[in-house]
Amino acid sequence: MKNTNKFKNKHILILGLAKSGFAAAKVLHEIGAYPTVNDQKRFEENEAAQELEKMGIKVVCGGHPIEILDDHFDFIVKNPGIPYSNPLLVKAKEKGIPIITEVELAYHITHAEFIGITGSNGKTTTTTLIFEMLKYGEKSPLIAGNIGTVACEVAQAAKKENLIVTELSSFQLMGIESFAPKIAVLLNIFDAHLDYHGTKEEYVKAKARIFENQTDGDYNIINVDDKDVVSAAEGGRGKKIPFSTSKVLEMGAYIKDKAIYFDEEKIIEIKDIVLPGVHNLENILAAVAVAKLVATPNSAIIKVLTSFTGVKHRLQYVTSFQNRKFYNDSKATNILATKKAISAFEQPVILLAGGLDRGNEFDDLIQELTRVKAMVLFGQTAKKLERAGKLAGIEILKTVDNVEAAVKEAYDLSNEGDVILLSPACASWDQHKTFEERGDIFINAVHKLK
Ligand code: ADP
Repeated sequence: MKNTNKFKNKHILILGLAKSGFAAAKVLHEIGAYPTVNDQKRFEENEAAQELEKMGIKVVCGGHPIEILDDHFDFIVKNPGIPYSNPLLVKAKEKGIPIITEVELAYHITHAEFIGITGSNGKTTTTTLIFEMLKYGEKSPLIAGNIGTVACEVAQAAKKENLIVTELSSFQLMGIESFAPKIAVLLNIFDAHLDYHGTKEEYVKAKARIFENQTDGDYNIINVDDKDVVSAAEGGRGKKIPFSTSKVLEMGAYIKDKAIYFDEEKIIEIKDIVLPGVHNLENILAAVAVAKLVATPNSAIIKVLTSFTGVKHRLQYVTSFQNRKFYNDSKATNILATKKAISAFEQPVILLAGGLDRGNEFDDLIQELTRVKAMVLFGQTAKKLERAGKLAGIEILKTVDNVEAAVKEAYDLSNEGDVILLSPACASWDQHKTFEERGDIFINAVHKLK
């Protein structure tokens, strides 16, 4: 461990439990801090809080009472999802209490170096690709983030020689103080999460924080096709390594003659890569740049790119049946992700879409929909998507009750050579607990067809 003194014997309020708050409380308790946990969920239904209390950690459940700040706290570790407008956080700011996220905690408790990956879309895919590639190199990578374990838990177990590969959301980056990854990757910046950040400028600023504490020996891997990424990286002190899907570059990762290159060296032909879609080329170029920087052999990079079929629920190839290919892109909870998914295929696509209604009319999807052969719709947005489909000139538009029925309907409508794609363009919460649940139902329904 590097510097547990920053937290040792300190009184720390953990705001919001979930996976990250639970891990932060446990880690802080184990390194000799005095955590107090405050969670919205009532104690009686709160298994995590009950478990922490058994360890001797103070827990306050059932709301965020402002009086909790009458006790002295040296830090607040907040769940990334809790907005800074929360009255308790507003009060804490007034009192001058530093508010951090658990990734800052992770950074202080290990000697291992970090590779941080951020962007609006593609974080999990890129993080996984990097982790898989590095496994075959000399560094021993550990993965942290959405699909893996929480960063501070990984950091607690890490040794100096490990490299922690972690995805970082803008919410997490808002809560850093001195966190500085050895290698920072910024994939892209779209108009996402504006409800949380207010304006695009604020969102770009939050993303730019990944570069904020880097020094001369560090690296920035940046998408030079995205002007917001380029401007976010402007102030950073790390060495800039560019990547581009559209231009041949003098250095960094790029595409030339239908192959991936890094610094003038050809790595792999695109036709040999399993992961579909131009958007995934973005993720792949970023991953190749990181892998080459830490001296990963080309054979390892090639092995991963010729075998990796995608992270579950992210344009994941499920199976082929009667010469129809099925893809699960349940994680596509916004229009942009669905646009990317549709454009990944040259074959006729039957699109399964719909879900939580956030007030969007889906006009931005119409152009991509002109490439779609049929739509099978479900959930709160079925009607709105049907309207967009009609405007795109799609003749076959069906509405069904749920994802399971959609699979059956899509199969009945399909011909040999078609792609049947679940890419809902909406969150799942109108009918499901999570997008993972929705994707699993899709996968099961596809296997049932067989
Ligand atoms: P994140 O972790 O940033 O949410 P994921 O890798 O989980 O990203 O992918 C989420 C969705 O975004 C997927 O459904 C995929 O279709 C789309 N996507 C992935 N990478 C990109 C990219 N580089 N640009 C645009 N869309 C992408």
